[in-house]
Amino acid sequence: MIDKTAIIVGGGPAGAACAWRLKKAGVDALILDKKTFPRLKLCAGWVTPKVFNLLGLHPKRYPHSIIAFDRLVCYFRGVRVPVRTRQYSIRRYEFDAWLLERSGAPMDQHRVGSIRKENRHHIIDDRYRAKYLVGAGGTHCPVYRHLFSRISPRPETSRIATVETELRYDYIDSNCYLWFFEDGLPGYAWYVPKGNGYLNIGIGGKQTAIKKQGRTINEYWRRFEQKLAAAGLVIDREFDAKGHIYYIRHRTPRLQTDNAYLTGDAAGLATVDMGEGIGPAIRSGLRAADAIIHKRPYRMPQGAGYSWPGIIGSGITAFFNPK
Ligand SMILES: Cc1cc2nc3c(=O)[nH]c(=O)nc-3n(C[C@H](O)[C@H](O)[C@H](O)COP(=O)(O)OP(=O)(O)OC[C@H]3O[C@@H](n4cnc5c(N)ncnc54)[C@H](O)[C@@H]3O)c2cc1C
Repeated sequence: MIDKTAIIVGGGPAGAACAWRLKKAGVDALILDKKTFPRLKLCAGWVTPKVFNLLGLHPKRYPHSIIAFDRLVCYFRGVRVPVRTRQYSIRRYEFDAWLLERSGAPMDQHRVGSIRKENRHHIIDDRYRAKYLVGAGGTHCPVYRHLFSRISPRPETSRIATVETELRYDYIDSNCYLWFFEDGLPGYAWYVPKGNGYLNIGIGGKQTAIKKQGRTINEYWRRFEQKLAAAGLVIDREFDAKGHIYYIRHRTPRLQTDNAYLTGDAAGLATVDMGEGIGPAIRSGLRAADAIIHKRPYRMPQGAGYSWPGIIGSGITAFFNPK
């Protein structure tokens, strides 16, 4: 049996941030992830300045490919609205591996299956034992499944369907584009240039609302491909796009039971207007670590988190998240 003070299931942004803080405080923590890093993670890789604040790092010091945008070109139902703002794009393939390495915590490649409790300790697959257990395994997190799914079930209406691909592409247009509610999509589509000649394109929308329309996310994706070609943004390319589901919860769910903590996508913490989850994952990972270090309750702000302030955020949410 491998004995640790804390075991973190999942080495994405939530798990790596948690491990980073625990390690700094001298807590004996181990990350378990089913994949080896660097690993592919479907994500547009848009990061806000807040993410770098949380990491205590100036974006200029980030050692991998990064692009800074001074504006986003948004379309709301076809109406062009350029938004002046400072935002960044990174490649998750690089970013997550860097975060994990920066944490300084050890990681075992291990797919977590069973979790049980014995003498106030969590036993994982009869192989690992820890007093504290952090669920940072994303949508399919086993800690959520075993310890939280009954006390905090995910409402069906919180399910977001996405289709996305990241490709090497010699893009000519280096703007970041966002199309909201195009063709009736209850969500948005994106075109995000990345460093080293990569481009990320994708769409996401609320699954129950798409179903109600009698449509599928793949139909929207095919239209989006045509749109990109017609606009001359991506031409003569076959896309190898993949789908992924994640959950965005309007009400913050229960995040702690005994000495088990839920963070990031496992808890459905991405923002309700944009589905921005990297920042909330890092923030929740850090807070879970603080709760363990200082033996205090683990809390995140109650209720919906927004990426856009005020009326824009709630306006997008009203379309993106219709009941
Ligand atoms: C298409 C798409 C685009 C997105 N675009 C953006 C964006 O541009 N900006 C943004 O901020 N957010 C975006 N998000 C959301 C963002 O990707 C997530 O919120 C974020 O990755 C959550 O981080 P996490 O650490 O909670 O989970 P993850 O990054 O999913 O990491 C979970 C880890 O747990 C591991 N794991 C899972 N199951 C097990 C198991 N049984 N045993 C061991 N390990 C396991 C996985 O291998 C994985 O490494 C997007 C999401 C999608 C689907």
